Amino acid sequence: MNRRIRSLPVLAVLAAALLAYPAQAASPGNDPAALAKIRDTAMASDYAWERTADMTDLIGPRLSGSAGAAAAVTQVAEAMRKLGARVTLQPVKVPHWVRGLESAELVEYQGRPSGISQRVVVTALGGSGATPASGLSAPVLVVKNFDELKARGAEVKGKIVLFDVAFDQHMADRGLAGQAYGQGSAYRRDGPRLAAELGAAAALVRSVGGASYRLPHTGSTGLVDGARIPAAAVTAEDAMLMSRLAKRGPVSMRLLLTPQNLPDADSYNVIADLPGSDKPDEIVIVSGHLDSWDLATGAHDDAAGVASAMAVLETLKKLDYRPRRTIRMIAWMNEENGTRGARGYLAAEQANADKHFGAIESDNGAGRPFGLRASVPAASSKLFAPLQAALLPIGAGVFQRQDALSTGDLSGLERAGVPSFAPLLDTSSYFDYHHTPADTLDKVDPDHLRRHVALMAATTWFLANIEQPIGRANVPGVN
Ligand SMILES: [Zn+2]
Repeated sequence: MNRRIRSLPVLAVLAAALLAYPAQAASPGNDPAALAKIRDTAMASDYAWERTADMTDLIGPRLSGSAGAAAAVTQVAEAMRKLGARVTLQPVKVPHWVRGLESAELVEYQGRPSGISQRVVVTALGGSGATPASGLSAPVLVVKNFDELKARGAEVKGKIVLFDVAFDQHMADRGLAGQAYGQGSAYRRDGPRLAAELGAAAALVRSVGGASYRLPHTGSTGLVDGARIPAAAVTAEDAMLMSRLAKRGPVSMRLLLTPQNLPDADSYNVIADLPGSDKPDEIVIVSGHLDSWDLATGAHDDAAGVASAMAVLETLKKLDYRPRRTIRMIAWMNEENGTRGARGYLAAEQANADKHFGAIESDNGAGRPFGLRASVPAASSKLFAPLQAALLPIGAGVFQRQDALSTGDLSGLERAGVPSFAPLLDTSSYFDYHHTPADTLDKVDPDHLRRHVALMAATTWFLANIEQPIGRANVPGVN
């Protein structure tokens, strides 16, 4: 019982509420019928679709520090208050990077007819430095990997280095999109910094993603203060063009990028609690991240994830199901270029980490779900059989145990021993839109999104009510 309820009028209102909702008196726990009801209720609702539409169509891009990010905090907090959740805004300081002008053209190459230059499609990487206001012109050095950069280290000084590394769509088509992304994004993350250390004037990376359509894919890069050279992604088509021209002879580019790295800005994680009945101090997190890149509306990345987490609370409210443990919806701020929201939460909750029973984040788009990825001890896998059974009818009964999920916002909690979970999704086309201007609401399939919510809601409920301990995550290399 809430200790703040002391006055008689409030007690009278509470008594009336209990009479109106007798189901609350006896929580259904992990009864198979309750799990099925949660699944079916989620499958019949478009709440997550509506919240995704609100975030993308009404606000648009939500990069940390922007007006869009601030509007998203307000919008999500209001929607959660409307559901009756206990809402807290947790302050965090976030990086504030703002895109400027960006253009590039190839001004010299073997066989160039007089008067011809070739426009190249570029977009600055988050954290990039700026060129002079009038741009810079320099020879281009194309490398295929880090080894080639090292071998040709003496040639780097003063050049614009292009890392021409293709995204492996074949891997993505066969269920290994995350791995394909990891291979490519290593060049986006580390390439510009390594080129800067060798004296490069600027660095370019081939866009990390499939379905090129001459779309640039942005993302953050790991440049450090004092060596913040201009860094941008070029489209796959333009990277291939530059590679072909470089085989003919020397290539030179004129590059203009004018982003600004501003002082850190004030922002928030949005936290919405549905208090537990008999173990309110134990917490199950269900989450997504509220910020997005600035090129598009971040429908897949990650409005759909946040909206699905919000829809978990809506589903349980509709059924008037009260969990044993507290269910905590978190819309994380700043996953994309700093994970300051997750770091801030962990710093505030470090002493309380063992009270976190489990944590879910959806941050791989809203493709059709096949099941659940889980960082739980191997011996605990069998405990999830009733959950798998409930999700089998919607094709989401797979349980994939891993030692660590290492997703952006949950990795700190995971290292602190909190078992973490993520939907196992069809991601074969996720990296077509990811971090591009094309990540818009029309790419989200409402049916896939309903299945997504059904998976998240059933999983959250299951974790919030399971009797047996599932043990702690045991991330390799961490005690
Ligand atoms: Zn994301």
